Amino acid sequence: MPTLLNGNVVCSAVKEDLKKEIETFESKPGLAVILVGDNPASKAYVGMKKKTCAEIGVHSVEFKLDVDDNEDALIEVIDECNRRDDIHGILLQLPLPDHFDEDKMLQLIDPRKDVDGFHPVNVGKLLIGLDTFKSCTPYGVFKMMDYYDIDPAGKHVVILGRSNIVGKPLAAILVQKGRGANATVTICHSRTQNLEEITKQADILVAAIGIPEFVKPEMVKEDAIVIDVGINRVDDASLEKGYKLVGDVDFESVKDKTSSITPVPGGVGPMTIAMLMTNTVQAYKQSQAVLAI
Ligand code: NAP
Repeated sequence: MPTLLNGNVVCSAVKEDLKKEIETFESKPGLAVILVGDNPASKAYVGMKKKTCAEIGVHSVEFKLDVDDNEDALIEVIDECNRRDDIHGILLQLPLPDHFDEDKMLQLIDPRKDVDGFHPVNVGKLLIGLDTFKSCTPYGVFKMMDYYDIDPAGKHVVILGRSNIVGKPLAAILVQKGRGANATVTICHSRTQNLEEITKQADILVAAIGIPEFVKPEMVKEDAIVIDVGINRVDDASLEKGYKLVGDVDFESVKDKTSSITPVPGGVGPMTIAMLMTNTVQAYKQSQAVLAI
């Protein structure tokens, strides 16, 4: 039987540690959550983030903009968040409505408050191995491996997907010199040829492509560790809600070939918020350290 890597357990442990640490602070870390428009999924994510803030003692400040607001309105909010001393982290919920230039908006966030780790300054620092905010989902994968004593050092990690929020930053994290890294990393994408030949070499296979149940047993080496970042909705008329969530890995057919595997839901998913909170606490501590100088 493979070990099930349970993101809910790791997330709870991370939150518990953060809560205890926050109790020792003189003031509360503050996270600004900016929501533009009324995308139901974004609203649900924002709700979950605010709830987690309340659970662990982070002060969340919500800014809501109308779907018809223009970039100037958002720039004003980001400016305010950059200036406010009670806000240590800024989260701009994506995706933004089409008439916003997402990259431009993200680059207006003060890199010292960029708890999503998307600002080019932080992406660059990550790549050259400096301490910085790491993008939350790949950071969550790193944390989860650490929790389960999975040491990628010297292992071949194959990552399916080269997005800026998952695949590339995960490769940048795992390839560094240092604890929990030192991996040999291969990144695959939609133009990769002989994909199965490559994935079969993986000691650790990470799937982040957004295609339901794409990874089949023949793509997986015996006893590999499989980490499924994918979250996909597929129709399921047998359920009241009419759909179910599945990953990028065909869990049922792949699991017995693995030594450890993440389920979906309940695998990597909960880790993203846990690491957002970790980054917010890091931003708070860095701001206090600056004040103390
Ligand atoms: P994305 O931006 O759409 O990137 C998908 C990547 O997969 C691209 O690099 C693409 O290649 C590659 N790809 C697509 N089809 C492929 C194929 N047939 N073979 C090999 N590579 C292929 O997706 P993302 O934002 O990284 O998200 C990936 C998955 O993770 C989604 O299911 C998403 O919902 C999930 N996700 C979960 C969390 C969480 O757990 N909290 C957070 C973020 C994302 P090209 O670059 O060539 O197009």
